[in-house]
Amino acid sequence: MAQRIQFARTGGPEVLELVDVTPAEPAAGEVRVRNQAVGLNFIDIYFRTGLYPAPGLPSGLGTEGAGVVEAVGEGVTHLAVGDRVAYAQGPLGAYAEQHVLPADKVVALPEAIDVETAAAGMLKGLTVQYLLRQTYPLKGGETILWHAAAGGVGSIACQWAKALGVRLIGTVSSPEKAALATQNGAWATIDYTREDVVERVRELTDGAMCDVVYDSVGKDTWETSLDCLKKRGLMVSFGNASGAVEGVNIGILNQKGALYVTRPSLNGYADTRERLEAMAGELFAMLEGGQVTIDISNRYPLAEAGDAQAALAARRTTGSTILLP
Ligand code: NDP
Repeated sequence: MAQRIQFARTGGPEVLELVDVTPAEPAAGEVRVRNQAVGLNFIDIYFRTGLYPAPGLPSGLGTEGAGVVEAVGEGVTHLAVGDRVAYAQGPLGAYAEQHVLPADKVVALPEAIDVETAAAGMLKGLTVQYLLRQTYPLKGGETILWHAAAGGVGSIACQWAKALGVRLIGTVSSPEKAALATQNGAWATIDYTREDVVERVRELTDGAMCDVVYDSVGKDTWETSLDCLKKRGLMVSFGNASGAVEGVNIGILNQKGALYVTRPSLNGYADTRERLEAMAGELFAMLEGGQVTIDISNRYPLAEAGDAQAALAARRTTGSTILLP
């Protein structure tokens, strides 16, 4: 038997329960990973609350983890039992001691990267890779606005943007979060609880505004974000921490300056094993080279996944959170 977190109905953190399950055998093309650390992500909250529907209930939860391959299905050639691995995609169910998933979603870990770093940084780091290097291929010298700059994805983005020579303006909700974002390489920070974001962006950029806005907050910040862009700038809406952006009148893009908008996801970019491996290779090089370090600020036992999610949803966390099976 092995333990996993599951939920039989959508709702608050209390719907998460720790149960015993018999680990499945991997089918053709799959592997079973013994998780040594599990990543906690905001998307897990979207599934728990029902904002994103789970394929069926009861359902496992979580898509990110790292550990050791303990069983390999037919036809898998790039992984073997005993390999140290990490993953950030695939079926829900990473909040568990063991997880079975398609081998194409699993990458081998370089020696230098420990499993806790991988579990804390894989999904968030791959996200920053595609956002900064593919959604808009930043070359250096651009000015960007990044909401939630002291969060899990944000902490990595601050460091990666700095390494690219990009001026990242980060929004935060407290002086402590501002200090953390600055320490991670943010060029400037704006505390939106006491400052007007659009006005501060105007001052900081001498009226030029931003080339790209990266907005994972969603509903609350949509319009402010558009107002922070220069003409023909790119709005990257990639999350819903405050709720989903809905009912958009496309004419607003014209009114605010012939803007572009995209709504990307990790699965939309790491959609083949080749693309996943190329993205992971770039992330691992940033970690091995020390340009990016993963700040694991919060560790919880697997059984306390609900408390961990409550802290993330209440803006009480900075950096990454991991669950330990
Ligand atoms: P974070 O650690 O960034 O936590 C969320 C942060 O968002 C909070 O700490 C808070 O920072 C800010 N926030 C602003 N408004 C709210 C609100 N109403 N409720 C809660 N938080 C709020 O989380 P993650 O690093 O896990 O994820 C960051 C975002 O990126 C999420 O929206 C997630 O869905 C998205 N994401 C999208 C991916 C994609 O491919 N599309 C992949 C990975 C993540 P502050 O207090 O400073 O405002």
